[in-house]
Amino acid sequence: MIFKTDPSEFQSLLEDTSAMRGGYADGAYFAESYDDVCEVLRRCHQTRTRVTISGNGTGTTGGRIPFGGVALAMPKLNRILNVKKNPDGTGVATVQAATLLFDLQQTVEAEGLFYPPDPTERLCFIGATIANNSSGARTFKYGPTRNYVGRLKLALPSGDLLEVRRGEIFADDSGVLAFETQSGARYEVPVPTYRMPNVSKHVAGYYAAPKMDLIDLFIGSEGTLGVVLEADLKLLPKPERIFGGLAYFADEARLLAFVDEARARSRDATSPSDLSARAIEFFDKRSLDFLRPKYPQIPSDAVGAIFFEQEITSETEDALLQAWLSLMESRGALIERSWIALTPAEQQDLRAFRHALPASVNEWYAKFKQRKISTDMAVPHHRFPELMRSYQTKCEAEGFDYVLFGHIGDAHLHLNILPKNDAEARRARELYRVFVREAIAMGGTISAEHGVGKLKAELLVEMFGEDGIRQMTRVKKSLDPNLILNVGNLIPEAYLAD
Ligand SMILES: Cc1cc2nc3c(=O)[nH]c(=O)nc-3n(C[C@H](O)[C@H](O)[C@H](O)COP(=O)(O)OP(=O)(O)OC[C@H]3O[C@@H](n4cnc5c(N)ncnc54)[C@H](O)[C@@H]3O)c2cc1C
Repeated sequence: MIFKTDPSEFQSLLEDTSAMRGGYADGAYFAESYDDVCEVLRRCHQTRTRVTISGNGTGTTGGRIPFGGVALAMPKLNRILNVKKNPDGTGVATVQAATLLFDLQQTVEAEGLFYPPDPTERLCFIGATIANNSSGARTFKYGPTRNYVGRLKLALPSGDLLEVRRGEIFADDSGVLAFETQSGARYEVPVPTYRMPNVSKHVAGYYAAPKMDLIDLFIGSEGTLGVVLEADLKLLPKPERIFGGLAYFADEARLLAFVDEARARSRDATSPSDLSARAIEFFDKRSLDFLRPKYPQIPSDAVGAIFFEQEITSETEDALLQAWLSLMESRGALIERSWIALTPAEQQDLRAFRHALPASVNEWYAKFKQRKISTDMAVPHHRFPELMRSYQTKCEAEGFDYVLFGHIGDAHLHLNILPKNDAEARRARELYRVFVREAIAMGGTISAEHGVGKLKAELLVEMFGEDGIRQMTRVKKSLDPNLILNVGNLIPEAYLAD
């Protein structure tokens, strides 16, 4: 294992894509084995030294940025250990934490298998996607990472190894998750009693439910309860083919009606020949304007666009293509100028278009040295139009530049306000807090997919209240009594001191 103390040699570990500044550490460990990780944690547990786990730095919330203590990276733990195909066409992949999502997808697809979770950014580590319960466009059909994790090998903050399989350990009737590690250490974790919001996607705070499975506590815990070392991931049969589309609209009301119908028909689909989107994604007019320098073919009269993907077989292709074209026509899409991607190469171009927006927005923030002001709230579907209107009218009233895009199929859009100077950034942050309160009041979540990290820890208090945060603190202390692991993520530090 290498330990570096010269900050210039681990500068990249002090950053992610949030543009959060000021990260620092006394050194960085580069672990090469599970034992290395356990050894670092054992030492730091004894000396009460903070450890911040590093993935590949694509996170947007400052989660991997250390403020003191040491950074822990493990880029060499990047092996796909096994891919097993079952007779029914499904499978299981066993992977190490630093396996790139992109590599996993390529490898299993070559075997005719499919790993559905697909955050737009594929250069992330699987361990981090588990720690963040990541999701993405295909979550509309397939749900988030949580649904695919069957086993985890973890290093707990004490340095103890824990192997946990789905379906083995559940909370008891008194709401306690009790378990033993491989070395025989016993833990008892009080399951929080707060209610999770009734939304399609939610990753803010610890998962909690009566009789919950222990594995679900670690998924989405943002590295605050343990280091993910290895996982078994459920694989599905690879869809035979897909096609994608980008439907432009000159009228936003018609675009929203298109989304409502596409969503309802997808949810009601019962046969492979029924229209059933695996992704329904939105771009507002300003997003299209933002992308136009790279994509001059975007129609000038388009006020928005919907990106969708549909899985097909050679038998269903014609009928499904016709179904989507009819839907576009009946809902008034600019059909002549819309984009249907039939071949893998065209689909790659379309995905590149989809990815170009968040990537360009992140570049914009970096260039203007502004901290990202991006919403990640999701609300119950029936409240979604209200939140979307609020985003638009309040940003217009303030005269802000912004782009609004994302996972409209899951009632989850990213509003990115683009302040031109610090004074505007301060006003934008105030408005952001207004939107957070509105989303919470609508029964929503402060984070549907990007997580809380350090940037949004204070907002978690608004969502769950002080009592909810104290319950999370009890979970944290039951697994990390010396408070060393990923401190600052999720739970504001003041609550840990209680
Ligand atoms: C352009 C762009 C688009 C994106 N789109 C999406 C999207 O659609 N959906 C989505 O969900 N996310 C999205 N993201 C966010 C990001 O890709 C995910 O959060 C991803 O999981 C981060 O992976 P990483 O390896 O880069 O982790 P990092 O940024 O390095 O770390 C993220 C967090 O995970 C913790 N962590 C890392 N490894 C481990 C481990 N082994 N054990 C425990 N904790 C660990 C870190 O401490 C940190 O708190 C996007 C990011 C970008 C830049």
